[in-house]
Amino acid sequence: RLREGRALAQDVWSIFNAANLPPTCINLGQGYMNFAPPDWVKEAATEALGSVAANHYSHPKGRIRLRNAIKQFYGPKFDRDLDVESEILVTSGANEGQYAVFTAFLEEGDEVIMFEPYFDQYLPSVTFNGGRPVFVPLHPAQNTAGKASSNDWSIDFEQLRRAITPKTKMIMVNTPHNPVGKVFTRQELEGIAALAEEFNLLVMADEVYDCLVFDDKEHIRIATLPGMWDRTVTVMSAGKAFACTGWRVGYLIGPPSIIFPTLAATTRIVFCSNSPLQEAAAAGLEQAVERKFFETQTAEYAERREILCEAFDALGLTYYVPDGTYFVLLDISGVQWPEDYQFPSSLDGRGRDFRAAWFIAETVGVSTIPVSEFYSAEHAVIGERFIRFAFCKDADTLRTAAERIKDLK
Ligand code: GLN
Repeated sequence: RLREGRALAQDVWSIFNAANLPPTCINLGQGYMNFAPPDWVKEAATEALGSVAANHYSHPKGRIRLRNAIKQFYGPKFDRDLDVESEILVTSGANEGQYAVFTAFLEEGDEVIMFEPYFDQYLPSVTFNGGRPVFVPLHPAQNTAGKASSNDWSIDFEQLRRAITPKTKMIMVNTPHNPVGKVFTRQELEGIAALAEEFNLLVMADEVYDCLVFDDKEHIRIATLPGMWDRTVTVMSAGKAFACTGWRVGYLIGPPSIIFPTLAATTRIVFCSNSPLQEAAAAGLEQAVERKFFETQTAEYAERREILCEAFDALGLTYYVPDGTYFVLLDISGVQWPEDYQFPSSLDGRGRDFRAAWFIAETVGVSTIPVSEFYSAEHAVIGERFIRFAFCKDADTLRTAAERIKDLK
């Protein structure tokens, strides 16, 4: 059986990889920066490479310097004196951290609830571990025209309750949310927490964009709501925090009852994470507060967001101003292309948004990500209305992209 390997559909990131698109295309697709991590973080990486110990396996829990830095930085945010031995786990990026939690907790047929759109990696991470994803769509506001808010995407709590069955083990809560940019409100998180308590569910809080929340919005950690610490594991990412997405350094914070089984799983999946770059991530967290690094970085991202949003305003298409993350959703239902336009076979069987994103990349010169990829087949029609722009690029690049986007008209 399976001598030819599993027939997994090609993922959206490799379809829309720069290598497949015209070389002059500006990449606002996959979310990674076109600028380097801060110098003081890079210098810590270089320094770590000069130390013998940091070139070798770290403890599977993570290097102690990084665990201490996480405790110091995140302790106040979780309102806890975090124990570096039992409540913090370093992982090979947030993805691997999530995967290890599923490996540790899912039994065949266990159900995991995820809001749609969901970050696409959740799906295989659940199914590879024998779990069954259950989808609950967020609802974009009806009849919006022009500028709308990411917060207009709302949860239908009755629908969420109906999705819970005796097999439900876990619910994923991604805030700030990729790709919507929504920052879940306290009321929403309290509603989810109440259901988690009532049905005794685990919660995976994917907070990898916790360092990117705009304006007066407050990032609330579901783990800090009453009664939630014991059932919640929170996932974070050095890649997003310090512009080093390829380093693959992430971390989990949670109670020992979740961290220890996950440690056992991650030890068997990767044994430990990349050692020298853990030292650099530690330097990042150690110095971030004094340097006011995240305040400055958020202000820079707010400017980048503005450049893109102005271009959308000029277009008059509906889009959702994100309260967090570096993504914006644009409604492309009105974008048309010639009937005989030639698309590559990699788009066969995919939604209208795939064709819109391809057409825009080739004719306007800006690549994006089609949003139906973040939906189950059942609700993909909602996602087909949107493409996602990433604004984790320097301001000049975004200005050039913004000029090009105006040609969409
Ligand atoms: N999280 C990033 C994004 O959404 C990268 C995704 C990936 O590389 N799989 O763009």
